[in-house]
Amino acid sequence: MNEGFETLAVHAGQEADPYTGAVVPPIYAVSTYKQDGVGGLRAGYEYSRSANPTRSALEEALAAVEGGARGLAFASGLAAEDTLIRTVCEPGDHVLIPDDAYGGTYRLFSKVLSRWGLSFDPVPLGDLDAVRAAVRPETKAIWVETPTNPLLGIADIAALAQIAHESGAVLLVDNTFASPYLQQPLALGADVVVHSTTKYVGGHSDVVGGALIARSAEVGERLAFHQNAIGGVAGPFDAWLTLRGLKTLGVRMDRHCDNAERVVDLLLSHRKVTEVLYPGLPGHPGHEIAAKQMRRFGGMVSFRVAAGEEEAVAICGRTRLFTLGESLGGVESLIEHPGRMTHASAAGSPLEVPGDLVRLSVGIETVDDLLSDLTEALS
Ligand SMILES: *Cc1c(COP(=O)(O)O)cnc(C)c1O
Repeated sequence: MNEGFETLAVHAGQEADPYTGAVVPPIYAVSTYKQDGVGGLRAGYEYSRSANPTRSALEEALAAVEGGARGLAFASGLAAEDTLIRTVCEPGDHVLIPDDAYGGTYRLFSKVLSRWGLSFDPVPLGDLDAVRAAVRPETKAIWVETPTNPLLGIADIAALAQIAHESGAVLLVDNTFASPYLQQPLALGADVVVHSTTKYVGGHSDVVGGALIARSAEVGERLAFHQNAIGGVAGPFDAWLTLRGLKTLGVRMDRHCDNAERVVDLLLSHRKVTEVLYPGLPGHPGHEIAAKQMRRFGGMVSFRVAAGEEEAVAICGRTRLFTLGESLGGVESLIEHPGRMTHASAAGSPLEVPGDLVRLSVGIETVDDLLSDLTEALS
């Protein structure tokens, strides 16, 4: 299939309903399916943990937009992560994770999976020699986030895939920050892509969800087995909202990027800002790699404040349009203080973030309104 991204987002898995002609896959709010005689399943559906038509539509669309063999939808990003690790790893295995991993991912490894006999090491994924040095015989997976949260570090997906595969490990990429519109990890050699669809894919801050997309049908089959066996599936209404969000991902991402670029320009010229973290900036240490593997540089922008932590916290309380809140990737702009909010649990760990840091999820509002809001909050 060589249809474009936006065509796949609107049509893949979303043929008109064969019975009614409904152009949108209905919300199949149902747990079980009538069988035509014992074992006589219609269209393969028997119980909605195993499969549900609304979820199947989303899963097919997700596989198409990421260019994978199989897509699977979960109740949350973390449910997807847990299922993924328990599919590809066993007790005794070792995993490399980013040294600035998403806080919930770090907590899953440090507080939950480690109790089940999995070891892990945080590594700076931007330093390929450090990654090679950290690989052990029992390393089963390298977990990648790029861009990272909230420092917007960049990792070279193709180079990391090569390191992983030379060591007999798999490369797992959390593509939440970039979204499939901006970055296609499977085409760069990743084995499985993970999403918190709560963020850009859903895009409207109205649903929590997660996804896994496998490059090969074989890995996809093992993930599907564990999805059903563990049971953290997306419900039909959540799947429907996520699918509705996915249709407009391409147009939303372009506006997120347009607005973020303007916000970056404003911050760069502001005397109260000491550093702007955005992979689109030529001075960003990962800029060249980002330019190679991303279509554009995304809607997330972080910056550091000259006056330090108290002023960073105060700025977060002074915006009017940028809503103070966790999460990201919705149509509305958000502002937060990672040190005291999303990354508070990383305090004292190798993943602690600077106190003078502010993170923005730049939304799709009229950009001049966003700029004047930030200008006032900074003054
Ligand atoms: C939010 C997020 C997650 C976790 O997803 P949930 O849907 O909140 O469970 C994982 N990775 C990244 C990068 C995220 O931003």
